[in-house]
Amino acid sequence: TQDLSAADPALQAAVDEEFSRQDSQIELIASENIVSKAVMQAQGTVLTNKYAEGYPGRRYYGGCEFVDKAEALAIDRAKELFGCAFINVQPHSGAQANGAVMLALLQPGDTVLGMSLDAGGHLTHGARPALSGKWFNAVQYGVSPETQRIDYDAVEQLAVESQPKLIIAGGSAIPRQLDFKRFRAIADRVGAYLMVDMAHIAGLVATGAHPSPLPHAHVVTTTTHKTLRGPRGGMILSNDLEIGKKINSAVFPGLQGGPLMHVIAAKAVAFGEALRPEFKSYIERVVENARVLAEVMVERGCDIVTGGTDTHLMLVDLRPKGLKGNQVEDALERAGITCNKNGIPFDPEKPMVTSGIRLGTPAGTTRGFGTGEFRLIGNLINDVLDGLVQQPEGNAEVESRVRAEVNALCARFPLYR
Ligand code: PLP
Repeated sequence: TQDLSAADPALQAAVDEEFSRQDSQIELIASENIVSKAVMQAQGTVLTNKYAEGYPGRRYYGGCEFVDKAEALAIDRAKELFGCAFINVQPHSGAQANGAVMLALLQPGDTVLGMSLDAGGHLTHGARPALSGKWFNAVQYGVSPETQRIDYDAVEQLAVESQPKLIIAGGSAIPRQLDFKRFRAIADRVGAYLMVDMAHIAGLVATGAHPSPLPHAHVVTTTTHKTLRGPRGGMILSNDLEIGKKINSAVFPGLQGGPLMHVIAAKAVAFGEALRPEFKSYIERVVENARVLAEVMVERGCDIVTGGTDTHLMLVDLRPKGLKGNQVEDALERAGITCNKNGIPFDPEKPMVTSGIRLGTPAGTTRGFGTGEFRLIGNLINDVLDGLVQQPEGNAEVESRVRAEVNALCARFPLYR
């Protein structure tokens, strides 16, 4: 019955510190967002107490009448949002969603063709250290050295040579729109399933800012916490009800036990928000802000992989300034701007160093930043970069001046108040 602050002051202190960090820095990590109060509240409800193995109406526990309502709301809203026939909202994360698809459609040792991590793919798409790379014969495609975009002819050739059972499209650092129709044609040619992992672009797909994979893919996976702005979690979608049956069995009992009903409730809240017109205009601003930020980065002397962005994110190639991703990530953090170092295609540097950073606009746009603010942010980032060029160990004078400007900007757009 005690409040958290009274029951556990040490934990409360960590939460308060994290709140101050989020409130006083500029969040440019492309996979993060800032959820609504309602989404957070749903996760702190009594639904956290409930076991509900199974699916609405078919549970292995009593007392599921009301959590069934919550899960049905999440399912119905997601179906409306993405226009599809089957949804499973139970995956605890994006990695779990991808694992469930593999469990549903593949046997260990089968060939999987996915995008390599260094070209913009995700660990779960067949990278060596991940389950997908250990238990399957993972073949990886990249991007063209000339255009830095996917070379669909090369993907097709790899597919013909390797005869995969599953082709995966999507990734974590792809700044351009994907051609799902072409991917499906390749999959059909070799008799493979096509899975699209739309984790990064789900919010854009929901509002039509990116073409939907659903008319083309056999199965679509996503996280719910990136551009979709819901709680941390995963989801699987399809228009094929037979595949849907296999997915349900793969999620539970195949891969997971009891679903996180409080998180599913928060997914329902987020999907309700995403169905409103304000969400469409939010996503339009996310994309516009990314375009403006990319423009400023180029004006100030950086390269942008593929020359720009159609989405919420961009990959900045720091080589024109002679800087490394790890060095820049640290310097920007000192200046109150959070992003992540990221390999660029054909990066000569190691993954813990890299030649690039990834920048995204979803969190800043939620906070209320528009193109004027993102123009300022682009200039502040470049002030820090130019400071580093002069003093590679860190330029305290420039970084503290930028930190003061970041503080002033954040104070004008406070979180949760
Ligand atoms: N798929 C893609 C494309 C991602 O970018 C991510 C996370 O960054 C995931 C899957 C995994 O999601 P999670 O971290 O929820 O397991």
